[in-house]
Amino acid sequence: MKDCIFCKIVAGEIPSKKVYEDDKILAFHDINPVAPVHVLFVPKMHMGSLNDIDPSNIDYVSHILEKIPELVKTLGLSNGYRVVINTGADGRQSVDHLHIHIIGGRKLSWSF
Ligand code: AMP
Repeated sequence: MKDCIFCKIVAGEIPSKKVYEDDKILAFHDINPVAPVHVLFVPKMHMGSLNDIDPSNIDYVSHILEKIPELVKTLGLSNGYRVVINTGADGRQSVDHLHIHIIGGRKLSWSF
């Protein structure tokens, strides 16, 4: 989608530090990490938020969930981690392309 920063990352128009990629999804390090490990998982197909999930695109999201256990092993998160999906204004979603935060690498407090 035009003017979507994560679509531009998916297209390679904006650089990112990739940690996983396949035909459906991409994972890359967050540019402003809140913990020692902070990775974002995005579907390659644009969807604005969790509110846009429907039967036509749920496989992109379920594929991300399926890949999390594999990814966290490569990231060294054997002691646990947090999965966050900020949604909408009150949820403090700042990029309108669905993304799943994987956060860890230290003991987290509720506010990180
Ligand atoms: P959210 O606030 O849940 O919408 O999260 C958006 C996340 O995207 C924030 O944690 C940002 O630091 C991150 N972010 C924004 N631009 C980039 C970028 N170019 N590369 C990597 N992460 C980014």
